[in-house]
Amino acid sequence: MDVTHIIDSLNDAQRSAVTAPVQNLLVLAGAGSGKTRVLVHRIAWLIQIEKMSPYSIMAVTFTNKAAKEMRGRIEELLGINPQGMWVGTFHGLAHRLLRSHWQDAGLQENFQIMDSDDQLRIIKRLAKEMNLDDKRWPARQFQWYINDKKDDGLRAKHIEPRNDPTDRNMLSMYHAYEAACERGGMIDFGELLLRSLELLRDKNPALLAHYQERFRYLLVDEFQDTNSIQYAWLQMLCGGQRKLMAVGDDDQSIYGWRGAKIENIQNLAVHFPGTETIKLEQNYRSTETILRAANEVIRNNQGRLGKELHTDAGEGEPISLYSAFNEQDEARFIVDQISKWVQEGNVRKECAILYRSNAQSRVLEEALIRSGVPYRIYGGQRFYERLEIKNALSYLRLLSNRDDDTSMERVINVPTRGIGTRTIEVIREHARSQSISMWRASNEVVELKRLPPRAANALQGFIDLINQMAQDTEDTLLHEQTEHVIQHAGLIEHHQKEKGEKAQSRIENLEELVTAAKQFNSQWDEFLDEEFNSPLAAFLDQAALDSGDTQADDFQDSVQLMTLHSAKGLEFPQVFLAGVEEGLFPHKMSIEEPGRLEEERRLCYVGITRAMQKLYITYAESRRLHGQDNYNRPSRFIREIPNELVEEVRLNASVSRPMTSRYNSDTGSSLFGSGSLSSSEVPDTNLALGQRVSHSKFGEGTVLNFEGSGAKARVQVNFDYEGSKWLVVGFANLQTL
Ligand code: ATP
Ligand code: MG
Repeated sequence: MDVTHIIDSLNDAQRSAVTAPVQNLLVLAGAGSGKTRVLVHRIAWLIQIEKMSPYSIMAVTFTNKAAKEMRGRIEELLGINPQGMWVGTFHGLAHRLLRSHWQDAGLQENFQIMDSDDQLRIIKRLAKEMNLDDKRWPARQFQWYINDKKDDGLRAKHIEPRNDPTDRNMLSMYHAYEAACERGGMIDFGELLLRSLELLRDKNPALLAHYQERFRYLLVDEFQDTNSIQYAWLQMLCGGQRKLMAVGDDDQSIYGWRGAKIENIQNLAVHFPGTETIKLEQNYRSTETILRAANEVIRNNQGRLGKELHTDAGEGEPISLYSAFNEQDEARFIVDQISKWVQEGNVRKECAILYRSNAQSRVLEEALIRSGVPYRIYGGQRFYERLEIKNALSYLRLLSNRDDDTSMERVINVPTRGIGTRTIEVIREHARSQSISMWRASNEVVELKRLPPRAANALQGFIDLINQMAQDTEDTLLHEQTEHVIQHAGLIEHHQKEKGEKAQSRIENLEELVTAAKQFNSQWDEFLDEEFNSPLAAFLDQAALDSGDTQADDFQDSVQLMTLHSAKGLEFPQVFLAGVEEGLFPHKMSIEEPGRLEEERRLCYVGITRAMQKLYITYAESRRLHGQDNYNRPSRFIREIPNELVEEVRLNASVSRPMTSRYNSDTGSSLFGSGSLSSSEVPDTNLALGQRVSHSKFGEGTVLNFEGSGAKARVQVNFDYEGSKWLVVGFANLQTL
């Protein structure tokens, strides 16, 4: 058997991991040492040499993008089509289990997955019903509580009520939320894991036996970031018989705040007997300078498992450190460097800008837009999260499940059809008192004549519309159904009224949805097996699960923007770490607590080690954030990098840097002229600086500035296509997005 293509491009340690006998393995190694590569080659080895069926292998990756890449690599290595293989994220795989066994799992057949937005909407609705003031009881706090409990494997009924009001409210919300999800046939991300764990562990021993028999080998990438429930899940599937390969790096554990447990690495040998640990010590990604900087920073953490890394890549360029006088200057510097890189004949997508928190992206984005540099944001607003797409999907959801309250509320009056808030209140009230869905409540309030005739007519119109569309599309293909719904629900006309470029782009997006449905339809029976009862259900799930790592403009050469968290596992020739300041990174919430500070440091290690050839680190001497000017010191992480690796950048030798001439081109601009972008709230309105809004005539834009308060407040909005305008809040009728 010719195996050279599987093991040729590996060093000795990597090869020993790939070709090890079928046993439990832990590959513990620093960044860029080829862990992910080893995992992929191991799969190829198991299939080709150990003769395992591709169907008896399960591989867990961190993102859908990584799963896709993994399939591609396996196909390349083996020349077989790995579709249908169980390669995916924990959520994706759990979902697959639940689709196959919805009945055993106690779910409705057409259960639907909600993303975190949907989840928040349900919680807000419930909080209103429970008369909880949203100022005192922010919905996000409930969401956080619920997700956290689920990650620990706890349902509401498992939790002992404590005798303080906060805890009691949290718990009542959890109960109410579970009931609402149950009624609507909805499940959230955490539920996917919890439900599938319960399915196998508690409900059906035969099923568990079946899967334990089937999966002979499990492989997990980024193992350091598994949380309790994911670990329990793996343990259960392995069942003491099956073998596991975990690859990870304790220094890159960055999800402690979401319940990830480093101890899972330490415990592995206990729970998975005979685990052999293999260390990889050569880094193939970065220059010596970059690698040394990363090693020096992470050295400051305690209690590491300890690993060495070296590289043959040569010293490379020094790390460039730029001290910007404010965040605008920082953005400008980064964009300038990227433009230079591109002028030298390189491609943009080799440049990544990484930052600690999402809020930092806006200023960077604006600078990129102003310079006409295409960019994309990972984990930013994705296709399936756009307003028009969510509306269309909600109609489709309603067709497949009338009891889906979230979708019902979303589109009941979109486009406007005379169903006002009063009517919706009546429906909600009835639904609540009868414990039925909004759909059933709508039918009943019409029958019971609870509404004035005009409102009743409007509502009846909506009910008929949904029923009619369902009937008309009964035997049609997925994309025909999608097209039918977009046409007949009046979504095109609705968006046409918005006018301008934005309307056009919304309509194009709706058309794109039909295309997506068409593509999906031609693939779905090929790789989704028997688990789904209809392509529509599968399509809707995919839309909800899509974790933002594929975007429509995948092929355009663009600069990559993302948070440090989403950069995990990736690599780029040029990396910019922006906002490396005390208070921002490490984040001010983490500075006091040693454990959290160390997690920030690991995040810094992740950031530095994404760079292959060149690393830039920038910080701003003053930064406007949340409406306040902050004068932060450079981050301690910068001091932890030895001086000899760093070169300070001085532009035009301008050492004292108030607005010098090189910024003059900006000062005339409304965007940068004010120099006072922040994200504070406009008093007595629902607007905030930085907020995205939509205006009937000017389309969508971002709030940049304001004066005054309430209806009389004037806000400056930078519209995407119409530029910047000052508007009076009371007249402008801005919709928040
Ligand atoms: P991270 O910790 O960031 O996830 P990793 O350990 O998973 O990193 P990989 O992404 O697998 O590392 O590999 C890093 C880079 O090194 C990739 O570009 C990979 O193709 C390359 N590489 C890995 N092993 C070898 C090798 N033996 N020869 C040449 N290149 C290699
Ligand atoms: Mg990796």
